[in-house]
Amino acid sequence: MNEKTMMKNAGKTKGLHYEEPLLWEYSQGGNCGVDWPQAEGREPRTGVPERGKIGLPSLSEPEVLRHYVRMSTWNYSIDHGFFPLGSCTMKHNPRLNEKTARLPGFAHIHPLQPESTVQGALELMYELQSWLSELTGLPGACLSPSAGAHGELAGMMTIRRAHEQQGNIAKRRVILTPDSSHGTNPATAVMCGFEVRSISTSETGGRLGVEEFKEALYRTDPMGGDVAGMMVTNPNTCGLFERDIQKIADLLHEAGGYFYCDGANFNALVGKVRPGDFGVDVMHFNLHKTFSTPHGGGGPGSGPICCSEELSRYMPVPTVVKEGDSYRFETAEERPDTLGTLKAFAGQFGIFVRALTYMKSMGADGLKQVAEDAVLNANYLLSLLKDDYHAPFEGPCMHECLLTDKVQKEFDVKTLDIAKTLIEYGYHPMTVYFPLVLHGTMLIEPTETESKAELDAFVATMKEIAAQAAGENGHDKLHAMPLSSPRRRLDEVKAARNPILKYVD
Ligand SMILES: *Cc1c(COP(=O)(O)O)cnc(C)c1O
Repeated sequence: MNEKTMMKNAGKTKGLHYEEPLLWEYSQGGNCGVDWPQAEGREPRTGVPERGKIGLPSLSEPEVLRHYVRMSTWNYSIDHGFFPLGSCTMKHNPRLNEKTARLPGFAHIHPLQPESTVQGALELMYELQSWLSELTGLPGACLSPSAGAHGELAGMMTIRRAHEQQGNIAKRRVILTPDSSHGTNPATAVMCGFEVRSISTSETGGRLGVEEFKEALYRTDPMGGDVAGMMVTNPNTCGLFERDIQKIADLLHEAGGYFYCDGANFNALVGKVRPGDFGVDVMHFNLHKTFSTPHGGGGPGSGPICCSEELSRYMPVPTVVKEGDSYRFETAEERPDTLGTLKAFAGQFGIFVRALTYMKSMGADGLKQVAEDAVLNANYLLSLLKDDYHAPFEGPCMHECLLTDKVQKEFDVKTLDIAKTLIEYGYHPMTVYFPLVLHGTMLIEPTETESKAELDAFVATMKEIAAQAAGENGHDKLHAMPLSSPRRRLDEVKAARNPILKYVD
């Protein structure tokens, strides 16, 4: 490291928290992490002409290592502290799951090994399929989708395949979805070639209304004959249980449509309610939400689907089947109605090990308590914060509590200012400005793994922020937040729309 960079660093280090230049800024040429002997007098054997310098930074191994480790300390994770990101179920990931996933018999196998040599792994997948089917009341299970959104794609392709095989795809063009749905729902429907018909929930207290549903179902065909299905999250993204879901599912089924349930919010129901019992035909899970496998930072996720007996023949291959005492993958030849494969091999195996470890260590009673405690924690927050922040919906919530900035807006303090102030006080902000059905929403999902003490500390901070907003010069104070983070307020929209991806010296 040259003197210039060193001084720059010293000036910007707070305690042991480093400002961190780019690798290129550290580089002064000449350093190298490895000692290659000069290949003298040898002709290159690859047939590729010798390369000139391509301008990579030259640094030693410890310099590179420190750079990345320092950068990693800028990240926030569930292992640092409370992470109340609504709809994301940021719960503790038990280390037991990591231990089992690292067992050599699981960690060192290869997807191209003969099935006879990986019977234990196949048994594990079979058991995971069985647990998911048991928890949902939906007998078909396919583990291969790589994330929640990929599971949605798998589920909607299953529905499309069913209509195709039944000769109805030309007339069934429409997917119904409430306006509170996660963006991936309408996006998936469009990717599958459907037209999206959105149902407003603003007049029905954040829930789907039967009359509004009927209006959408019969809008262009009195029998609903142009509707292929619906995509609904239950509980929905306002944190509310859809009370009329059974009635709505019956109406949809009478009209010949299929019910896709976005299962991202399954943490509120697991062990308590089987979605198959309220009319779901196919749904996905986020193993990385409900079943405690790590997520955030882009992966690896895992989004298996479960479906009804009727739809099972159309879902993707492979699935694991049991024959006598042995296990194997079911092939497309055996199930000719399948829509085919979604990806290479059978899914995120390491995540399956973690999820099944979690299920077995919790047990059926433990999973039920997960849902109960997750809902209890969210209601605890709602009850303590609803006098300081606007709570738009009457009554208790499910696993996440929805607030808005309506009260603070009077003082020119908005949801964004509240979120940025939370960073100053050591909390990852909640989900902001989602769902889109109301202005300035804050969606807080504490999950069951936070203690009462942690929740009380968060409530105290939120109350303090509300008091500051209402106090003297509240808006000036909160508009300046955060004060101590390495970066303060970034123009995130500009960064996404106009990214500068090239380093300019
Ligand atoms: C997280 C989430 C998804 C998408 O899941 P990914 O694993 O991030 O692809 C879909 N719907 C809802 C409601 C979610 O919360």
